[in-house]
Amino acid sequence: MSTPVRVRFAPSPTGPLHIGGVRTALYNYLFARKMGGQMLLRIEDTDQNRFVPGAEEYILEALRWVGIEIDEGQGVGGPHAPYRQSERRDIYQKEAQRLVAEGKAYYAFDTAEELDAMRKRLEEANAPAAQYNSITRLQMSNSLTMKAEEVQARMDAGDPFVIRLKTPRKEEVRLNDLIRGWVNVHSSAIDDKVLLKSDGLPTYHLANIVDDHLMGITHVIRGEEWLPSAPLHVLLYRYLGWEDTMPQFAHLPLLLKPEGNGKLSKRDADLGGFPIFPLQWTDPATGQVAKGFREDGYLPEATVNFLALLGWNPGTEQELFTMDELIASFDIAQVHKAGARFDIQKAQWFNHQYIRQVADDVLAPTVQQQAEAAGYDCSLEKATKIVALLKGRVNFAREIVTEAGTIFNAPTTYDEAITAAKWNDDAVRAVTAFRDALLPFDGEFVADAIKHTLSNAMQQAGIKQGKIMQAMRLALTGTGAGPDLMLTMEIIGKDETIGRLEKALSTLKSPVN
Ligand code: GLU
Repeated sequence: MSTPVRVRFAPSPTGPLHIGGVRTALYNYLFARKMGGQMLLRIEDTDQNRFVPGAEEYILEALRWVGIEIDEGQGVGGPHAPYRQSERRDIYQKEAQRLVAEGKAYYAFDTAEELDAMRKRLEEANAPAAQYNSITRLQMSNSLTMKAEEVQARMDAGDPFVIRLKTPRKEEVRLNDLIRGWVNVHSSAIDDKVLLKSDGLPTYHLANIVDDHLMGITHVIRGEEWLPSAPLHVLLYRYLGWEDTMPQFAHLPLLLKPEGNGKLSKRDADLGGFPIFPLQWTDPATGQVAKGFREDGYLPEATVNFLALLGWNPGTEQELFTMDELIASFDIAQVHKAGARFDIQKAQWFNHQYIRQVADDVLAPTVQQQAEAAGYDCSLEKATKIVALLKGRVNFAREIVTEAGTIFNAPTTYDEAITAAKWNDDAVRAVTAFRDALLPFDGEFVADAIKHTLSNAMQQAGIKQGKIMQAMRLALTGTGAGPDLMLTMEIIGKDETIGRLEKALSTLKSPVN
């Protein structure tokens, strides 16, 4: 029987979750669901200096907003609680001490000044890598160079110390990444990383490996920025005696700038005026506000669809996917190696596709509110009709009210080019005939009936309807193009329709021809 798939999303609460982090969580989720496995959420908060209040809540809310369901972990609970690393320090200390006892790690007492001096010395000697490693450790203050009594004495005196990994001098470290294939590194390229810090807390590397092992993680799916650490992690699994249950790795491609060159940055977002965070974030220290996809009007379905295709596609033409369809089609082996261009216009296109699918009465209350905030009189019924008329023409729900300007406001000016081209004798006759046909109209003023009235009036006047429609639109809205005109008239109502036709007749007066 094969082990059930267990993946984890393991963010650090150092600020708002980056949209790339949401994509990482999403790929983990899609993979877990596809494989009938489970998705865990672990909070990696062992770096106390970088802890930001509110960040953990933000992460939970962002995942909830995009519809990623956590099976186990922070906020949900489960058999491996606690899921916040800062609450698991005893577990890491035990493993770090075990490594020391087994000769795979050691205590180091070097002060910041001593470490600096070593780095300078090595740099001056043009050493290939100025780092603490299998060679340089022999000149430093650690339990490999000091006598046992001296080590004990320094500990008894309360001298701060760390535990470092005793990296082997000559060993091949290999891993088979599910996306990138084989990665080989020689252990001489790996330094003696600190595993346990002087405050007794583990570093990311130790805590991450210990937890992935104890929590039964089978696949580690994370951003490319962690690929350089992966060989160290393989070494840690080996030293901890857990290599045979080591998870498989999959390192996801970087998100690139909209122009496609270089890593996407906060600066790109500021310059382009687009969000790179799922939700709006107010920095608790500076009060600075960063834009969020949610607050900018993106629907969660559109955000998910956009993110899913940043670095993966199923190899077909299909672009629109519900979460269930993504789960059914997702294949981790199809994730690209090359970085994915963060094309915000594509995100807008997705939003356009999803906005038009939202039921009219769902969008209507917001549109009503926005219309009233803009000073228009708008019943819920009217808002619902406006949504039906315009939702297919916008990228964001808030644009509906803007687009509805020609509905709420009678024209005060008329497009000059359209006037010159289309406001002719036939146009005047047509508008007059239509106005006359509307005056006695006493049925229900709905699109179908209006259409009927118009075509009858044109027939009687002997005017080809196709030739005067733009002039009719000009008279009603002042513009040459827009949404369905019959529905537009239905929404503005009979009296307003007649009023606008009359105003056009008097304002535009006789055509020049
Ligand atoms: N805490 C790490 C981060 O914030 C997790 C990396 C990993 O998934 O191993 O990205």
